[in-house]
Amino acid sequence: MAFAPFVRSSRICLALACSIALAGFRGNAAVSKMKLSGYLTARADANTVMILDDRLELTAASKIIGKDDSGEHPLELADLAPGMLIEAEGQWVDRHRFFPERLTVDLRQNERKIHGSAYLQEEPQDASKIASGEASLLKVDGYWLALDSRTKRAWNVSKASAGMTARDSGAGTLLAGYRVKYSGSPGADGRLAAEEVELGPPAAADDYKMPHNLDIVRAKDPQTGTEVLEFREGKKLQGRMKLLAERTVQEYVSHLGDSLIPEGAKGTRRPIEFRFFVVEDPEINAASLPDGTLLINTGLLGAIENEAQLAFILSHEMAHVLQVHYRREVEETRGSRVGLTIAGLAASAFIGNAGMFMAQIGIASAVNGHQRELENQADRLALQNVIEHGYDPREAPNFSRIIVNRYGNRTTSKLWSNHDSSLIRGSFLTVQLMREYPDGHWDGAMKNTPSFQAMKDDLGPVKIM
Ligand SMILES: [Zn+2]
Repeated sequence: MAFAPFVRSSRICLALACSIALAGFRGNAAVSKMKLSGYLTARADANTVMILDDRLELTAASKIIGKDDSGEHPLELADLAPGMLIEAEGQWVDRHRFFPERLTVDLRQNERKIHGSAYLQEEPQDASKIASGEASLLKVDGYWLALDSRTKRAWNVSKASAGMTARDSGAGTLLAGYRVKYSGSPGADGRLAAEEVELGPPAAADDYKMPHNLDIVRAKDPQTGTEVLEFREGKKLQGRMKLLAERTVQEYVSHLGDSLIPEGAKGTRRPIEFRFFVVEDPEINAASLPDGTLLINTGLLGAIENEAQLAFILSHEMAHVLQVHYRREVEETRGSRVGLTIAGLAASAFIGNAGMFMAQIGIASAVNGHQRELENQADRLALQNVIEHGYDPREAPNFSRIIVNRYGNRTTSKLWSNHDSSLIRGSFLTVQLMREYPDGHWDGAMKNTPSFQAMKDDLGPVKIM
């Protein structure tokens, strides 16, 4: 998932820029340029665009360029609009104020047509209308698709389930879990006018397998009696994580997680049992493993402000599992299975660095995050899931703000990269809400609960890194 690992990038520059400015070096040619990336969330005025809370103040000297597959094209200030993915190079002039010398718009993100593929997170309400060619609505991939007489449909359930046994196809009537390929054009109402929809089979059972067929089991350390999570390859213990001792916190997270499991989990060809474990780890992060095991760090529970934020994070992680992102990533980016051996871990040792361990077993993305399209997909589906469960989806970008602000003032961090940052994630979520739910009214939606507050009390102060 990775809310945390690369988040530091966007704000370190802030702290650096401030100290440089104070030292009187601002504008000096030797000062290296800072970068800022994200989706434009608003236009504040004629010369200013926003990415979440950051103001990008353009002047006549700012160079604006659009980039697509054919190359670079000059753009005007007036061309900049909310929703565009940009990268700015320039200087921080103040907290939340950035002066871009050069601003590059990724024009490929602005294509009129959206296409993709996803496993249905929930049962389509209009399934029979879709099959019979009538006007209908379909929720897929975090979008609302509007089908009409012009939509090209390949929607044949028996064809999509061909070769599957009765047990494979779940209850037999469920389409949740089936794959849908789609394309469409976004309209002002937030819906996509569907050009094509095609129903395909659910993911293969093996797609939910853990690398090395690792078993993940709850156990007790024989010496200390500490509750641990063990990663076992056959009889061999490959690593352990320390579980948080507070039962009530574990139970609260499991209970919330169970209440958020999408219908799509019932339609998988390998039964998925989602399990939620709170592990002692100060990093603000959570991770999901291909088999439905979710790891929620104590640092994350310490940092979040309300139940809506946790509901979003759990939904995001479950989306990674149900969309078989590990398998997709292996197929699309690496072409082969990785992590053939697990090396270098003393069997009884506690896993000190979850990222390193996941890398060793070939699923570094569990902790470090997937490629951007997959993170975006998990975010879209998570937004839809929390909205369905009555939560305020605006808490999703607010969670990104917590990370941006927390890591922003950390001058000790050396991390600077072009990797996905929380600013990109937070601004994506904001844009997604604006586009998909132009009429969204969330003021009455759930944000917090007494049980969340009770969990925070039981958790007490935790180390956050
Ligand atoms: Zn993720």
